[in-house]
Amino acid sequence: MHEWTLLEAAQKVRANEISSRELTRAVLERIERLNPAINAYITVLAEKAMRDAQSCDEALAKGLVRGPLHGVPVGLKDIFCTRGIRTTCGSRILQNFLPPYDAAVTEKIAASGAVLLGKQNMDEFAMGSSTETSCFGPTRNPWAIDRIPGGSSGGTAAAVAAGMCFAGVGTDTGGSIRQPASVCGVVGVKPTYGRVSRYGMIAFASSLDQGGAVARTVPDAAVMLSVIAGHDRRDSTSVDIPVPDYLAATEKSVKGMKVGLPREYFGAGGLDPAVRAAVEKALASLAEQGAEAVEISLPHTEFALSAYYILAPAEASSNLARYDGVRYGYRAETDGGLIEMMSKTRAQGFGAEVKRRIMIGTYALSAGYYEAYYGKAQKVRTLIRRDFESAFSKVDAILTPTAPTPAFRLGEKLADPLTMYLSDIFTIPCNLAGIPGISVPCGISPDGLPIGAQILGNHFREETLFTAAAAIERAIPLPRVAPL
Ligand code: GLN
Repeated sequence: MHEWTLLEAAQKVRANEISSRELTRAVLERIERLNPAINAYITVLAEKAMRDAQSCDEALAKGLVRGPLHGVPVGLKDIFCTRGIRTTCGSRILQNFLPPYDAAVTEKIAASGAVLLGKQNMDEFAMGSSTETSCFGPTRNPWAIDRIPGGSSGGTAAAVAAGMCFAGVGTDTGGSIRQPASVCGVVGVKPTYGRVSRYGMIAFASSLDQGGAVARTVPDAAVMLSVIAGHDRRDSTSVDIPVPDYLAATEKSVKGMKVGLPREYFGAGGLDPAVRAAVEKALASLAEQGAEAVEISLPHTEFALSAYYILAPAEASSNLARYDGVRYGYRAETDGGLIEMMSKTRAQGFGAEVKRRIMIGTYALSAGYYEAYYGKAQKVRTLIRRDFESAFSKVDAILTPTAPTPAFRLGEKLADPLTMYLSDIFTIPCNLAGIPGISVPCGISPDGLPIGAQILGNHFREETLFTAAAAIERAIPLPRVAPL
């Protein structure tokens, strides 16, 4: 049952072939069995999920279908506020935070009729590429238990890959949906900035953060994205453009599609030969189906990582100023005054990676250095956006590796933040430009680890991504669920 796609599961519930209760119980049993080892969930809502499933069954008995995901159990990264349900962002400082309201994404998932299974593990405040910075312990890759699941949406990707939900919603600031999807062998889509509301999504770097779908197939990801996408007045950066039929796009042909290959993404020293070979196979499969490969250049790619690691920490240092022990979240015990309480709260509540970002960001924004760092990084960001603008005047989509290597071992990069940051070298430019990107499985390494190909598109051209990714998925069939 857990191997069904999201679409199959939804169809079977609607056709009364299985009840939502049976389906939900089966997935909850799988979570109970596998979560101690994989640690994909921080919070499992077993009782609530069963109650919601029952209410779905009762509604269906009266002929009522709530939405496209009626009765199907899914998960949410623990960055989306859920009213009355603990929302931690992987941090000690929010360990017992009960939000008084639902995020827009949470509302949309509920409105689709889906059953919420629980809140999924993540790097603390979405800062990381391995889900090792979570204060709830690391998530493990279901393909190889000694490997990382990617990050920061590692819990979501691992849960989808392990059959511990039919799909999930993650967030992507610099690659946090696509990179975990790639190393867990699932599909992950980060839409255009402004496509999915950030209302109630705990902020990391607001000008880059974007919610998106993680699923086992491209059509599933398309359906999941159509559920969560759309305008929301409560998020001023949300864009009022109608949501197209993403699912229909997965059935279109790639014939005549111009696919750009940026030479900067293939020349990089750290690119694993197995990853290169798999992405070349993905390209060949597109060419066989009538797409045309075009060599392109994105000349400012080499500066993207440096610009990101100024801009994202700068925004984070500002966003995270609100965790001061006064209004909500953890408060340190102290006999001292207000300043001491705040200092201790932050010292005890935040982990090392979050502190590192706050310090870098505060420094970059300080009066004497603002122009030299933040101002300069903003200019680089503009150049990167222009690189893509000029590329998309020649091609419809861009094909690259998602991550330079398959999943690495737990602990391997934890001691060296710079090496860890390089995991996102291919995913970060997309966030800086605000364009959409998808990762689709395209091969298995000699060690038996999944490899993903990334497809980038112009603003609001998610449909092109779905068309190309679905074409790769059809041509290169791979296991949907990790061989556990
Ligand atoms: N790994 C990157 C970082 O640590 C990206 C994280 C993300 O996309 N949330 O900032």
